[in-house]
Amino acid sequence: MFSTIIGQPQAVEVLKGAIENQRLVGTYLFVGPAHVGKATTALALAQALNCVGEPDAPFDGCGTCYGCRAIADGTHPDVRSAAPSGPSRTLRIPQFWPREGVREHPADRAMLRDLHFAPVRGKKRVFIIEDADALNDDTANSLLKVLEEPPAYAIFVLTAPSTNSVLPTILSRSQAVRFRTVAAPDIEQALVSRHGVDQAHARFLAAFTQGQIGEAFRLASHPALLDARQAVLDAASDLTSGSPLIAAYKVADDLRKAADKLTAGRKDDAAESQRTALTHALDMVLLWYGDLLRIVVAKDSLAPINADRAEMLHRHAAGYAPATLARAVAILNDTRRYIERNASAQIATEALALQLLALPRRK
Ligand SMILES: [Zn+2]
Repeated sequence: MFSTIIGQPQAVEVLKGAIENQRLVGTYLFVGPAHVGKATTALALAQALNCVGEPDAPFDGCGTCYGCRAIADGTHPDVRSAAPSGPSRTLRIPQFWPREGVREHPADRAMLRDLHFAPVRGKKRVFIIEDADALNDDTANSLLKVLEEPPAYAIFVLTAPSTNSVLPTILSRSQAVRFRTVAAPDIEQALVSRHGVDQAHARFLAAFTQGQIGEAFRLASHPALLDARQAVLDAASDLTSGSPLIAAYKVADDLRKAADKLTAGRKDDAAESQRTALTHALDMVLLWYGDLLRIVVAKDSLAPINADRAEMLHRHAAGYAPATLARAVAILNDTRRYIERNASAQIATEALALQLLALPRRK
């Protein structure tokens, strides 16, 4: 339902306005960062168009009728989605058009197999193509005619990170609707009210996911994250406590072990996920230094992101000048880049810890 979409008032207004004024176009391109609600909004549009119940608001779905529930479950015969699949992350022709003998994409499940039949249960057929930037030339060419002029009862919704990430032939046939990252307080509130996340963890998740509300929702039910976060914060607080007994190699080791907790239970490419986990751990350390910087610069006017460790943060902040903390943030960002570019995790984290421990402190 449109009423449950968080942080995208303009996109929702454009779509509701189009329904109200009967000016829906045949092909929409939802553009914006990952995990901000593009696919969810596409489903909300499908619900608004196919609702057979009594919605609370005009031009929206009710969320509870057969149509709305089937669309949310992915079982509505008139609403279908396709997304990139396989390691090459491409959208292939057999996902759209029936092709015999393709094991991963059986002909009877091709998205557009019965495009030329009117809706079965609803009023509009809605075809959602996620990550349309993954359409290769052949697949895109096979779709051009239908995107140009879909049957009157059909609407296509494509999603992509930006307009220039999709082929010009696709872009020219669609109307772009812009999505943006969601404001941290909006994410925080949604985590508390909808997912029952406690306030402190919600505040952390909202900052950590940087406006990617879908990612925040996903991580809210990720028990390993809580665990990993505490371990990262223990390492981070070793770095800023000012104790002369802290050894760089030990903190580096703790950081890598904390990152490993983030990869627990994941089956994808091990080296890749290890690197990604380490960058996420560094993101958490960045939030820690960001908190220190805010405390030093803004004094008490802002609550720290890591509210559960506020007392410790205030104690550690007293040891630093603002410029030193800004330097720490720069060092962390550099290290994050090295790791993204395949640097050895051990060397990168040890160099990081050495540099951070060597930063000057106030007496
Ligand atoms: Zn409904």
